[in-house]
Amino acid sequence: MSDSKSNATFADFGEVIRDHQSFALLSHVRPDGDAIGSVLALGFSLMAAGKTVRMINEDGLPENLAFLEGSSRIEMPPAELIEVEVVIALDTATKPRLGDAALRSVSKAGLWLNIDHHISNPAYGDLNLIDATSPATGQIVYEMIIALGLPLPAESRDAIYVAVSTDTGSFQYPSTTAKTYEMAADLIRRGLDVGTINSSTYDNHPYRRVELMRALLNTLERSADGLVAHWEMTDATRRELELLPEDSEGLIDIIRAIRGVKVAVFFEELPDSKIRVSMRSKDHSVNVCEVAMQFGGGGHALAAGIRMAGPMDEAKGKVLAAISERTSAV
Ligand code: 5GP
Ligand code: MN
Repeated sequence: MSDSKSNATFADFGEVIRDHQSFALLSHVRPDGDAIGSVLALGFSLMAAGKTVRMINEDGLPENLAFLEGSSRIEMPPAELIEVEVVIALDTATKPRLGDAALRSVSKAGLWLNIDHHISNPAYGDLNLIDATSPATGQIVYEMIIALGLPLPAESRDAIYVAVSTDTGSFQYPSTTAKTYEMAADLIRRGLDVGTINSSTYDNHPYRRVELMRALLNTLERSADGLVAHWEMTDATRRELELLPEDSEGLIDIIRAIRGVKVAVFFEELPDSKIRVSMRSKDHSVNVCEVAMQFGGGGHALAAGIRMAGPMDEAKGKVLAAISERTSAV
Protein backbone atom coordinates (compact mmCIF):
# COMPACT_ATOMS: atom_id res chain seq x y z
CA MET A 1 0.00 0.00 0.00
CA SER A 2 1.02 3.62 -0.52
CA ASP A 3 2.29 5.76 2.30
CA SER A 4 -0.83 6.43 4.36
CA LYS A 5 -0.96 10.23 4.32
CA SER A 6 -0.17 10.67 0.66
CA ASN A 7 -2.89 9.83 -1.80
CA ALA A 8 -3.72 6.16 -2.10
CA THR A 9 -4.51 4.51 -5.44
CA PHE A 10 -7.77 2.93 -6.56
CA ALA A 11 -5.95 -0.40 -6.22
CA ASP A 12 -5.22 0.33 -2.52
CA PHE A 13 -8.92 0.98 -2.01
CA GLY A 14 -9.72 -2.18 -3.94
CA GLU A 15 -7.56 -4.21 -1.57
CA VAL A 16 -9.36 -2.82 1.49
CA ILE A 17 -12.74 -3.53 -0.11
CA ARG A 18 -11.70 -7.09 -0.99
CA ASP A 19 -10.30 -7.81 2.48
CA HIS A 20 -13.25 -6.52 4.54
CA GLN A 21 -16.94 -7.30 4.80
CA SER A 22 -18.67 -4.44 6.65
CA PHE A 23 -18.65 -0.75 5.73
CA ALA A 24 -20.23 2.43 7.09
CA LEU A 25 -20.48 5.30 4.63
CA LEU A 26 -20.70 8.86 5.97
CA SER A 27 -20.96 12.36 4.52
CA HIS A 28 -21.17 15.91 5.81
CA VAL A 29 -23.88 17.62 7.88
CA ARG A 30 -26.58 19.41 5.87
CA PRO A 31 -25.85 17.02 3.02
CA ASP A 32 -26.16 18.17 -0.58
CA GLY A 33 -26.55 16.18 -3.80
CA ASP A 34 -22.87 15.24 -3.95
CA ALA A 35 -22.77 14.08 -0.32
CA ILE A 36 -25.88 11.89 -0.53
CA GLY A 37 -25.23 10.86 -4.15
CA SER A 38 -21.67 9.71 -3.43
CA VAL A 39 -22.77 7.68 -0.42
CA LEU A 40 -25.62 5.98 -2.34
CA ALA A 41 -23.41 5.36 -5.39
CA LEU A 42 -20.66 3.62 -3.46
CA GLY A 43 -23.07 2.02 -1.00
CA PHE A 44 -25.19 0.30 -3.64
CA SER A 45 -22.10 -0.75 -5.57
CA LEU A 46 -20.61 -2.37 -2.44
CA MET A 47 -23.90 -4.07 -1.59
CA ALA A 48 -24.14 -5.43 -5.14
CA ALA A 49 -20.63 -6.81 -4.56
CA GLY A 50 -21.96 -8.69 -1.52
CA LYS A 51 -20.76 -6.36 1.24
CA THR A 52 -22.67 -5.31 4.35
CA VAL A 53 -23.23 -1.55 4.19
CA ARG A 54 -24.71 1.11 6.48
CA MET A 55 -25.24 4.60 5.04
CA ILE A 56 -25.37 7.21 7.77
CA ASN A 57 -25.80 10.97 7.77
CA GLU A 58 -25.92 13.21 10.84
CA ASP A 59 -28.96 15.08 9.44
CA GLY A 60 -30.51 12.20 7.52
CA LEU A 61 -31.86 12.31 3.98
CA PRO A 62 -33.02 15.76 2.75
CA GLU A 63 -36.52 15.80 1.26
CA ASN A 64 -35.29 17.14 -2.11
CA LEU A 65 -33.19 13.99 -2.70
CA ALA A 66 -35.80 11.46 -1.61
CA PHE A 67 -36.62 10.80 -5.30
CA LEU A 68 -33.32 8.90 -5.66
CA GLU A 69 -33.95 5.19 -5.80
CA GLY A 70 -32.69 3.49 -2.66
CA SER A 71 -32.28 6.78 -0.77
CA SER A 72 -34.48 5.54 2.10
CA ARG A 73 -31.46 3.43 3.08
CA ILE A 74 -29.79 6.63 4.38
CA GLU A 75 -30.20 6.62 8.15
CA MET A 76 -29.71 9.09 10.96
CA PRO A 77 -26.95 7.97 13.36
CA PRO A 78 -28.28 5.12 15.53
CA ALA A 79 -27.91 5.42 19.30
CA GLU A 80 -25.92 2.18 19.55
CA LEU A 81 -22.34 1.78 18.32
CA ILE A 82 -22.31 0.01 14.97
CA GLU A 83 -20.28 -3.17 14.52
CA VAL A 84 -18.34 -2.20 11.43
CA GLU A 85 -14.82 -2.76 10.13
CA VAL A 86 -14.34 0.14 7.71
CA VAL A 87 -15.65 3.72 7.66
CA ILE A 88 -15.65 5.62 4.37
CA ALA A 89 -16.08 9.40 4.60
CA LEU A 90 -17.27 10.99 1.37
CA ASP A 91 -17.28 14.62 0.18
CA THR A 92 -16.35 15.89 3.64
CA ALA A 93 -13.47 18.36 3.97
CA THR A 94 -12.91 17.97 7.72
CA LYS A 95 -13.71 15.13 10.11
CA PRO A 96 -15.89 17.23 12.47
CA ARG A 97 -18.19 18.07 9.51
CA LEU A 98 -19.34 14.43 9.65
CA GLY A 99 -21.22 15.32 12.86
CA ASP A 100 -20.78 14.22 16.49
CA ALA A 101 -23.48 11.54 16.55
CA ALA A 102 -22.37 10.03 13.23
CA LEU A 103 -18.75 9.93 14.39
CA ARG A 104 -19.72 8.30 17.66
CA SER A 105 -21.86 5.64 15.97
CA VAL A 106 -18.90 4.35 13.94
CA SER A 107 -16.26 4.66 16.65
CA LYS A 108 -15.69 0.86 16.73
CA ALA A 109 -14.35 0.80 13.16
CA GLY A 110 -10.68 0.00 12.76
CA LEU A 111 -9.97 1.58 9.40
CA TRP A 112 -10.86 5.00 7.95
CA LEU A 113 -11.07 5.77 4.25
CA ASN A 114 -11.53 9.32 2.97
CA ILE A 115 -12.75 10.15 -0.55
CA ASP A 116 -13.10 13.83 -1.41
CA HIS A 117 -12.51 16.64 -3.89
CA HIS A 118 -11.94 19.52 -1.42
CA ILE A 119 -8.47 21.01 -1.71
CA SER A 120 -8.64 21.95 2.00
CA ASN A 121 -9.07 18.29 3.08
CA PRO A 122 -6.21 17.48 5.53
CA ALA A 123 -6.28 13.76 4.60
CA TYR A 124 -7.73 12.54 7.91
CA GLY A 125 -8.23 8.95 6.72
CA ASP A 126 -5.88 5.99 7.08
CA LEU A 127 -6.17 5.91 3.31
CA ASN A 128 -7.08 9.00 1.34
CA LEU A 129 -8.29 9.57 -2.18
CA ILE A 130 -8.41 13.34 -2.60
CA ASP A 131 -8.67 14.74 -6.10
CA ALA A 132 -9.20 18.50 -6.04
CA THR A 133 -9.38 18.55 -9.85
CA SER A 134 -12.57 16.49 -9.75
CA PRO A 135 -15.76 18.59 -9.96
CA ALA A 136 -17.59 16.29 -7.54
CA THR A 137 -16.88 13.42 -5.19
CA GLY A 138 -19.44 11.49 -7.24
CA GLN A 139 -17.07 11.54 -10.20
CA ILE A 140 -14.22 10.08 -8.11
CA VAL A 141 -16.58 7.34 -6.92
CA TYR A 142 -17.55 6.62 -10.54
CA GLU A 143 -13.89 6.41 -11.60
CA MET A 144 -13.14 4.07 -8.71
CA ILE A 145 -16.10 1.78 -9.47
CA ILE A 146 -14.98 1.56 -13.11
CA ALA A 147 -11.28 1.13 -12.27
CA LEU A 148 -11.98 -1.69 -9.79
CA GLY A 149 -14.64 -3.36 -11.93
CA LEU A 150 -17.21 -3.04 -9.12
CA PRO A 151 -20.91 -3.43 -9.96
CA LEU A 152 -22.75 -0.29 -11.10
CA PRO A 153 -26.44 -0.89 -10.31
CA ALA A 154 -29.18 1.57 -11.32
CA GLU A 155 -29.21 3.18 -7.87
CA SER A 156 -25.49 3.98 -8.17
CA ARG A 157 -25.81 5.15 -11.76
CA ASP A 158 -28.54 7.68 -10.95
CA ALA A 159 -26.87 8.81 -7.72
CA ILE A 160 -23.58 9.54 -9.50
CA TYR A 161 -25.35 11.64 -12.11
CA VAL A 162 -27.19 13.70 -9.48
CA ALA A 163 -24.02 14.10 -7.38
CA VAL A 164 -22.07 15.51 -10.30
CA SER A 165 -24.94 17.52 -11.80
CA THR A 166 -25.68 19.33 -8.54
CA ASP A 167 -22.01 20.05 -7.74
CA THR A 168 -21.32 21.47 -11.22
CA GLY A 169 -24.42 23.68 -11.51
CA SER A 170 -25.81 21.25 -14.11
CA PHE A 171 -22.46 20.61 -15.81
CA GLN A 172 -21.73 24.34 -16.15
CA TYR A 173 -18.96 25.30 -13.70
CA PRO A 174 -15.37 25.46 -15.02
CA SER A 175 -14.50 22.33 -13.01
CA THR A 176 -16.58 20.37 -15.55
CA THR A 177 -14.22 18.54 -17.94
CA ALA A 178 -14.38 16.21 -20.92
CA LYS A 179 -14.09 13.35 -18.41
CA THR A 180 -17.26 14.60 -16.72
CA TYR A 181 -19.24 14.59 -19.97
CA GLU A 182 -17.77 11.20 -20.93
CA MET A 183 -18.90 9.85 -17.59
CA ALA A 184 -22.40 11.28 -18.13
CA ALA A 185 -22.51 9.72 -21.61
CA ASP A 186 -21.52 6.36 -20.14
CA LEU A 187 -24.27 6.63 -17.48
CA ILE A 188 -26.83 7.38 -20.21
CA ARG A 189 -25.63 4.34 -22.19
CA ARG A 190 -26.15 2.32 -19.02
CA GLY A 191 -29.80 3.30 -19.02
CA LEU A 192 -29.99 6.61 -17.13
CA ASP A 193 -33.15 8.56 -18.02
CA VAL A 194 -31.84 12.14 -18.45
CA GLY A 195 -35.20 13.90 -18.77
CA THR A 196 -36.75 12.26 -15.74
CA ILE A 197 -33.74 12.63 -13.46
CA ASN A 198 -33.20 16.31 -14.31
CA SER A 199 -36.88 17.00 -13.84
CA SER A 200 -36.82 15.32 -10.42
CA THR A 201 -33.70 17.29 -9.48
CA TYR A 202 -34.55 20.75 -10.84
CA ASP A 203 -38.28 21.04 -11.67
CA ASN A 204 -39.69 19.75 -8.46
CA HIS A 205 -39.23 22.50 -5.86
CA PRO A 206 -41.67 23.11 -3.01
CA TYR A 207 -43.60 26.40 -3.26
CA ARG A 208 -41.94 27.68 -0.07
CA ARG A 209 -38.62 27.80 -1.92
CA VAL A 210 -40.01 30.44 -4.30
CA GLU A 211 -41.41 32.34 -1.33
CA LEU A 212 -37.90 32.24 0.12
CA MET A 213 -36.58 33.65 -3.14
CA ARG A 214 -39.00 36.58 -2.79
CA ALA A 215 -37.81 37.22 0.78
CA LEU A 216 -34.16 37.03 -0.28
CA LEU A 217 -34.67 39.42 -3.22
CA ASN A 218 -35.97 42.01 -0.77
CA THR A 219 -32.58 41.96 1.00
CA LEU A 220 -30.40 41.97 -2.14
CA GLU A 221 -27.51 44.44 -2.12
CA ARG A 222 -24.64 45.08 -4.48
CA SER A 223 -21.31 46.73 -3.67
CA ALA A 224 -20.69 50.20 -5.15
CA ASP A 225 -18.23 48.76 -7.69
CA GLY A 226 -20.79 46.11 -8.71
CA LEU A 227 -18.38 43.23 -8.04
CA VAL A 228 -20.10 41.73 -4.99
CA ALA A 229 -23.78 40.84 -4.57
CA HIS A 230 -25.22 39.48 -1.35
CA TRP A 231 -28.51 38.66 0.30
CA GLU A 232 -29.55 37.27 3.65
CA MET A 233 -32.07 35.09 5.38
CA THR A 234 -33.14 35.63 8.98
CA ASP A 235 -34.18 32.89 11.36
CA ALA A 236 -37.61 34.57 11.49
CA THR A 237 -38.02 33.97 7.73
CA ARG A 238 -37.06 30.33 8.20
CA ARG A 239 -39.74 29.89 10.85
CA GLU A 240 -42.39 31.89 9.00
CA LEU A 241 -42.00 29.95 5.74
CA GLU A 242 -41.34 26.64 7.55
CA LEU A 243 -38.16 26.20 5.54
CA LEU A 244 -35.95 23.12 5.51
CA PRO A 245 -32.15 23.49 5.25
CA GLU A 246 -32.13 22.31 1.63
CA ASP A 247 -34.70 24.90 0.49
CA SER A 248 -32.00 27.52 -0.12
CA GLU A 249 -29.74 25.15 -2.05
CA GLY A 250 -28.59 26.66 -5.36
CA LEU A 251 -30.46 29.97 -4.98
CA ILE A 252 -27.12 31.78 -4.73
CA ASP A 253 -26.63 31.06 -8.44
CA ILE A 254 -29.29 33.69 -9.18
CA ILE A 255 -27.10 36.52 -7.85
CA ARG A 256 -23.90 34.90 -9.06
CA ALA A 257 -25.39 35.24 -12.55
CA ILE A 258 -25.66 39.05 -12.40
CA ARG A 259 -23.50 40.68 -15.09
CA GLY A 260 -20.40 42.27 -13.56
CA VAL A 261 -20.70 40.38 -10.27
CA LYS A 262 -17.58 38.39 -9.38
CA VAL A 263 -18.56 37.17 -5.93
CA ALA A 264 -22.00 36.22 -4.61
CA VAL A 265 -22.62 35.76 -0.90
CA PHE A 266 -25.54 34.30 1.01
CA PHE A 267 -25.79 34.94 4.75
CA GLU A 268 -28.09 32.71 6.76
CA GLU A 269 -28.95 33.13 10.42
CA LEU A 270 -29.07 29.68 12.02
CA PRO A 271 -31.36 28.66 14.91
CA ASP A 272 -28.31 28.55 17.22
CA SER A 273 -27.68 32.23 16.25
CA LYS A 274 -24.54 31.31 14.35
CA ILE A 275 -24.25 32.56 10.78
CA ARG A 276 -23.82 30.28 7.78
CA VAL A 277 -22.02 31.99 4.93
CA SER A 278 -22.15 30.59 1.43
CA MET A 279 -19.88 32.12 -1.23
CA ARG A 280 -19.46 31.72 -4.99
CA SER A 281 -16.79 33.28 -7.20
CA LYS A 282 -17.24 33.49 -10.94
CA ASP A 283 -13.60 32.92 -11.85
CA HIS A 284 -10.17 32.24 -10.40
CA SER A 285 -9.25 35.93 -9.90
CA VAL A 286 -10.97 35.71 -6.50
CA ASN A 287 -10.49 32.58 -4.36
CA VAL A 288 -13.41 32.33 -1.91
CA CYS A 289 -11.93 29.25 -0.21
CA GLU A 290 -9.14 31.51 1.07
CA VAL A 291 -11.73 33.95 2.40
CA ALA A 292 -13.61 31.07 4.08
CA MET A 293 -10.45 29.71 5.68
CA GLN A 294 -9.78 33.13 7.24
CA PHE A 295 -12.93 32.51 9.32
CA GLY A 296 -12.54 28.78 9.96
CA GLY A 297 -14.52 27.62 6.92
CA GLY A 298 -13.41 25.91 3.74
CA GLY A 299 -14.43 24.49 0.38
CA HIS A 300 -13.25 25.17 -3.16
CA ALA A 301 -11.70 28.16 -4.94
CA LEU A 302 -15.04 29.04 -6.56
CA ALA A 303 -17.50 27.71 -3.94
CA ALA A 304 -16.87 27.88 -0.23
CA GLY A 305 -18.66 28.21 3.09
CA ILE A 306 -18.29 29.23 6.71
CA ARG A 307 -20.20 28.71 9.93
CA MET A 308 -19.26 31.61 12.19
CA ALA A 309 -20.32 33.56 15.26
CA GLY A 310 -23.09 36.15 14.87
CA PRO A 311 -24.76 38.51 15.09
CA MET A 312 -25.61 38.90 11.42
CA ASP A 313 -24.36 42.47 10.96
CA GLU A 314 -20.98 41.70 12.50
CA ALA A 315 -20.45 38.54 10.44
CA LYS A 316 -21.55 40.38 7.28
CA GLY A 317 -19.20 43.28 7.96
CA LYS A 318 -16.20 40.99 8.47
CA VAL A 319 -16.79 38.72 5.49
CA LEU A 320 -17.68 41.52 3.05
CA ALA A 321 -14.55 43.44 4.10
CA ALA A 322 -12.37 40.37 3.46
CA ILE A 323 -13.97 39.87 0.04
CA SER A 324 -13.65 43.52 -0.91
CA GLU A 325 -9.91 43.41 -0.14
CA ARG A 326 -9.62 40.74 -2.83
CA THR A 327 -12.04 42.12 -5.43
CA SER A 328 -10.48 45.59 -5.27
CA ALA A 329 -7.07 44.04 -6.00
CA VAL A 330 -8.15 42.45 -9.30
P1 5GP B 1 -22.32 25.63 0.12
O1 5GP B 1 -22.15 27.09 -0.11
O2 5GP B 1 -22.97 24.96 -1.06
O3 5GP B 1 -22.94 25.31 1.42
O4 5GP B 1 -20.85 25.03 0.20
C1 5GP B 1 -19.92 25.28 -0.79
C2 5GP B 1 -18.66 24.50 -0.48
O5 5GP B 1 -18.07 24.97 0.71
C3 5GP B 1 -18.91 23.03 -0.29
O6 5GP B 1 -17.91 22.35 -1.00
C4 5GP B 1 -18.79 22.81 1.18
O7 5GP B 1 -18.22 21.58 1.45
C5 5GP B 1 -17.91 23.93 1.65
N1 5GP B 1 -18.40 24.42 2.95
C6 5GP B 1 -19.59 24.96 3.20
N2 5GP B 1 -19.72 25.31 4.49
C7 5GP B 1 -18.57 24.97 5.09
C8 5GP B 1 -18.07 25.05 6.44
O8 5GP B 1 -18.74 25.53 7.36
N3 5GP B 1 -16.81 24.56 6.65
C9 5GP B 1 -16.06 24.03 5.65
N4 5GP B 1 -14.84 23.56 5.95
N5 5GP B 1 -16.49 23.94 4.39
C10 5GP B 1 -17.71 24.39 4.10
MN1 MN C 1 -18.87 17.93 -3.39
